[in-house]
Amino acid sequence: MARYTGPVCRLCRREGEKLFLKGEKCAKNVCPINKRPTAPGQHGTSRKKVSEYGQQLREKQKAKRIYGILETQFRHYFEIAERTPGITGENLLRLLEMRLDNTMFRMGFGRSRTEARQIVRHNLVTVNGKKVNIPSYQLRTGDIVQIRDKSKTLQRFKDVLEVTDSRIIPEYLTSEREQLRGVVNAVPNRDQINIPVRETLIVELYSK
Ligand code: SF4
Repeated sequence: MARYTGPVCRLCRREGEKLFLKGEKCAKNVCPINKRPTAPGQHGTSRKKVSEYGQQLREKQKAKRIYGILETQFRHYFEIAERTPGITGENLLRLLEMRLDNTMFRMGFGRSRTEARQIVRHNLVTVNGKKVNIPSYQLRTGDIVQIRDKSKTLQRFKDVLEVTDSRIIPEYLTSEREQLRGVVNAVPNRDQINIPVRETLIVELYSK
């Protein structure tokens, strides 16, 4: 699956806020948003009134960037969300949250979503005891996510756990950090999904 490979901090600067895409660096003073909170490019400092369409577009871009998803796949998630009973925007966020790479990140098994995705791709993860190397794999209630036994002793995971030690694990997940094992207790409701996105604007944008 294609993914964005350009400069990551530029994406935060474009949205004008921290999207926490880089793990440790995001919590430090070296975060470029602290130094240069303007949009990248020649006209980054100019202030323009943002139209309604512009606001909707920015919310969609922000969500895509946070979860590391490109347009086609994001649109696909939206179509599923629309067909699912309930509130479309919330369904969309739920689908994104229940991706395996995102859940690994939430459990503290990746410093960033990008790293969690790489760990999945490298065949280091099992779901309910079976190897899964698809970052977009949709988890369900009761699923057990685990780092494979032979990979648990890798220095990488010691480093990851050190950085994610203070991460607050959402209540719909259990994370047994020492065992590098976690459980999906439930599908999250909107209040439990901690991302700075107004999903209703995304629904408005796609409903035009
Ligand atoms: Fe965004 Fe993190 Fe880069 Fe700061 S350090 S701009 S929060 S990705």
